Amino acid sequence: MLLLVDLDGVVYRGSDPVPGVADVLAERVAAGDHVLYCTNNSSRYRTEYVRILGSMGAPVQPDWVFTSARATALELAQCDPPVRVAMVLGAPGLSHEIRDVGIRPVDPDGRGLSADPDAVVVGIDRHLTYERLAVAAQAVREGARFVATNRDPVFPAAEGLMPGAGSIVAALETAARRAPDMVVGKPGPILFEAAARSVGMTPREAVVIGDGALTDIAAAGRTGARSVLMLTGVTSRAEAEALPPDRHPTLIAADAGELRSALLRLQGGEAAA
Ligand SMILES: [Mg+2]
Repeated sequence: MLLLVDLDGVVYRGSDPVPGVADVLAERVAAGDHVLYCTNNSSRYRTEYVRILGSMGAPVQPDWVFTSARATALELAQCDPPVRVAMVLGAPGLSHEIRDVGIRPVDPDGRGLSADPDAVVVGIDRHLTYERLAVAAQAVREGARFVATNRDPVFPAAEGLMPGAGSIVAALETAARRAPDMVVGKPGPILFEAAARSVGMTPREAVVIGDGALTDIAAAGRTGARSVLMLTGVTSRAEAEALPPDRHPTLIAADAGELRSALLRLQGGEAAA
């Protein structure tokens, strides 16, 4: 099977591993499954996840990590007309992924603007300033494609809820007076499509494992993937049960043991079909 696995709230919570999940994933890989990690986080280069997941005992290789930054870079590489220069209103990890696909990343400053960017790419930007926002808006007004890594309004951190990439996308949308041309992350379909394509498959053949009813499970529904909602993160059982029938996950798992059983059931269904 192809497993599209969310990270925060599934494999770990902050810096703490969710007990047993890394072992279940290792068993699935040993049994021949593909495991691809799909996260809306756009700030890190994928080798950082190789280090983090590896230290938790989860099976991982660099090509198994699909951040919204990497999926955005892969989508930009397929654009027609081609994107040669991309202005990055985001973190160094996003610039790194963009450079990896042969596109030149530039900063949202006067020099970046004079490079005549074909696209403005927006992710979480902890160095956001009025100046950076103003330059990015000018580039969009001058015709650059407006690409959002994701629209998460906030994300949980140790210090509380912090503004996510979506807050910065909204600011740019207001300043440029134009909606993004493309939004890559969940709940949209592009992140899962890019991940599945990397192993020659489609999301319809995949099982999504996620903790977010409105992100992971919604994106699974939109792409025709089956899904297991983990109750180890942001969604409670009561919230899951209150979802309208067409938004329900295929199965719900409270912990790693229930995830193991859920995947065996889904695999059994596949064998019977
Ligand atoms: Mg999550």
